[in-house]
Order: sequence, then structure tokens, then C-alpha cells
Amino acid sequence: DAASQKDLRSPICAILGHVDTGKTKLLDNMRKTNVQEGEAGGITQQIGATYFPIDMIEKKCETMRAYTDPQFNVPGLLIIDTPGHESFTNLRTRGSSLCNIAILVVDMHHGLEQQTLESIRLLKDGKTPFVVALNKVDRIFGWEPVPNSNIRDALAKQSQSVQAQFNSRLEATKLLFAEQGFNSEVYYKNKNMSKVVSIVPTSAVTGEGVPDLLYLLLELTQTRMSKQLMYLSELEATILEVKVVEGLGTTIDVVLSNGILHEGDRIVLCGSNGPIATTVRALLTPQPARELRIKSAYIRHKEVKAALGVKISAPDLEHAIAGSRLLVVGPDDDEEDLKDDVMDDMSGLLDSVDKSGEGVCVQASTLGSLEALLDFLKQMKIPVMSIGLGPVHKRDVMRCSTMLERKRELALMLCFDVKVDKDAELYANDNGIKIFQADIIYHLFDEFEKYQKEMLE
Ligand code: GDP
Ligand code: MG
Repeated sequence: DAASQKDLRSPICAILGHVDTGKTKLLDNMRKTNVQEGEAGGITQQIGATYFPIDMIEKKCETMRAYTDPQFNVPGLLIIDTPGHESFTNLRTRGSSLCNIAILVVDMHHGLEQQTLESIRLLKDGKTPFVVALNKVDRIFGWEPVPNSNIRDALAKQSQSVQAQFNSRLEATKLLFAEQGFNSEVYYKNKNMSKVVSIVPTSAVTGEGVPDLLYLLLELTQTRMSKQLMYLSELEATILEVKVVEGLGTTIDVVLSNGILHEGDRIVLCGSNGPIATTVRALLTPQPARELRIKSAYIRHKEVKAALGVKISAPDLEHAIAGSRLLVVGPDDDEEDLKDDVMDDMSGLLDSVDKSGEGVCVQASTLGSLEALLDFLKQMKIPVMSIGLGPVHKRDVMRCSTMLERKRELALMLCFDVKVDKDAELYANDNGIKIFQADIIYHLFDEFEKYQKEMLE
């Protein structure tokens, strides 16, 4: 009925894969509407996310009707499109349920590249259902574009040689996934969606397979998300990014996965100097593109409903940590209890710190990336002495220097996506403390593994 329909919430999808596989291009293609429409009925750009209303998806899936009778029971689909895979790393944080499903984009001509393998690990660990967009079909030699067609019709129109090349690429991809422990199959031949990963061949340039991808995302979330998940219930929100904005000060970009958030709500989140409790000053989403002549870059909302990406302006957000959950203090809640709750995500990570007081130091920009680093070090059987979030200061390096006398080979810091200040760098140089720094996790791992090998020689 009408009342409950209004309370349905949209599923959330993340998009990930190696650089240059076509993630951005694929999203651009999905956003393209055939008819120029007003923003109201169309797609809305949000903070770190794009919202696709169901009417629009239904139109895009029109070409699927030749094969199936698509059902559209949710209000829309929210696709998180923060650049890089960094936001997805946050998803692994305990207690955070950022997305319901993911698209793993693979360049069909390049196989499974390093960031793709890393993404697969994250998906596996988080038990996140995903579909594979096997992208760039149009690059097959001799491909005849059938713009925005479903993939089966498009394939049927290709020459035998193109079809043969396609099949050999598809089989090669299935083999690569098997090596990673996943059975996979092109989605329309997949008889067991819950056990076998579905592959959707796509072109982000000519649009073949994009209707199939949207159709499949809805189909899977509608049938596999629990009924309860589909209704607005208790508030769930995750901080994607902490950003300074002129005129607003430090703000947080948040994905609201469930519930309703209001201006004036009292919120609690994780901070690098302890829990933060503050009051929402403003809830902001970007101004629609065609309204850019209006001065303010943002629209203010009295309340926002899941699922969406929203910027929160509030006092005291300077030390907020990306990857943290965001809680709202309800009428029956004790703010102090919620502060303990929200810091649990951080304290959980402290368990990885070696009790002997020996080990390396680890510093990261987000809870999720910190967790990824700790997992890696555990696999490498390298003890960790201390962990930290945010920029590296001299005092962090000084802590590390205690290892110089105890175990010289452990006197080092692994820093992911954080700034190292001048004093810290000078101190490290003067005292022979090695600082590893990178903003792509596997680069950090590679560099460190190389160093370890050199040390052993
Ligand atoms: P991202 O790094 O994963 O976001 O990749 P981009 O979306 O930026 O795409 C990387 C490059 O590949 C760009 O030059 C795109 O135009 C190109 N590209 C992406 N998808 C396709 C595709 O389906 N077909 C072709 N021919 N080129 C593509
Ligand atoms: Mg991109």
C-alpha cells in the first residue's frame, strides 16, 4: 500500500575495480538519459553518490523485456561513486553496512589486475554479493556497436569471429575467477545466483549490456535483501570523507544507509582524539547542475531519508575519522553509551597491537584502511606496536624510535594516505627510522615486502 511503499528504502551499490577498467565511464553511461528530463524525475547527483530513481531505471531496462519481466519494487538505487577504491576500503569496517551489493569492473582485455584482486579479497571478507561488469566488449576487433542494447541482442548481431573472440575472453575470465575461488558464469546462463558470480559483458562507451547490469542489480537486491532491509528502520550511517569546505569549516560526507536524519539531531562519531558528540547544523546535497547560477553550491534539507549521500556541517568535526559509523542520540539513549559504542570499532583494532610492546607503527587515514593494513601485517607475521589515525607527527615517530634499541628491523612506520609533517620526517631521517608512505594500499605492501626481502639478504 501507499504508506509502506513510501517507507521502502533504496539498495546501495558500490563500484570497484582496477584503475582504468571503466568505473567512471560506466557510471557516466548509466547517468545518461535518452530524453532530456528535468532533474526532478531524473537522476540526482549526491554527495559521493548518484541516485537513480526507479522510473529512470525502468526506462533504461526497456530493452530487457524481450527476455524477462523485470520487477521494480524499490524506490531507486544509490550507487556510491567516490573516486578510487579508498571509500570501498572503509566498507570493511566492523559494524558498517555501507553497501548491499557491488559491481566489480573488469577490463575483458586485461584480466584480473592488482586492485581487482584486492577488491575481490575485500568482497570475500565482507561477504558482499557482487556482479562482474566485463567491460570494453566494444574493443573486440570487428565489434559492430548496437548502442544501449541488451547484451544478448548485441552479441547475436556480431560476426562469428567476434563471437568467437568474445567466448574465448569470457572463458578466460571464468578461469581467472576460478583461481580466486569463485565459480562464475555469464548472468543469463547462471542457474545459481547465490553461489555463482554473475558476469555481465558491457561497454561503457556504446552502452551494450548496461541495461542488463541495472536489471541484474535490482533483481539481486530485491530478491536477496531481507524484507526488513528494504524498510526505513534504525539509523545506519557511515562517514566516507572528512573535508574542509570554505564557509562551512570541517564537514563530513556521509552515506545514510538506513533511517532518517534531521537538522538539529545530536550525533556521535569516532574521532582521532576520542569520541565526538555534536549537533547537526545543516544537511546538504549538491545543487542540481542546471541551478548553478544560484550562489550556494548546496541545497539545505530539514531532513533526509535513506539511502543517500549527504554532507553534514556541524561544529567540532576536525578530528572525525572516515570509515566511522555515525550514531544519532535518540530520546531514550544515553550519549555516553553511544560514545563507547562508536569507539568500539577503534578499540577492536587495538587488539591487533602486540602485548610485548615490540613491533612496527601503523598510521592510516581511515578505520577501514587501518584494518586492511593490520590484516596484511598479520599475514606477514609482523608484530604491531602502535596504531594511529590521521597525520603523522614527531611524537608518533618518537614512539617508533623505542624499537631502535630493542629490534632495529622493526623501527619503521607504515603510513597509508596520511601526511607526514616536516618535524616528523626530520626526526625519522636523523634517527634512522624508515617511513613507508603510499596512498594505494598494494603499493605500500609491495614496497614493504621488497624491503623485507632486502633485509633478509
Ligand atoms: P576508471 O579508472 O575505472 O574510472 O576508468 P575510466 O572510466 O576513467 O576509463 C578509463 C579509460 O578507458 C578511458 O579512456 C575510457 O574512455 C576507456 N573506457 C572505459 N570503458 C570503456 C569501454 O567500455 N570501451 C572502450 N572502448 N573504452 C572504455
Ligand atoms: Mg575513475
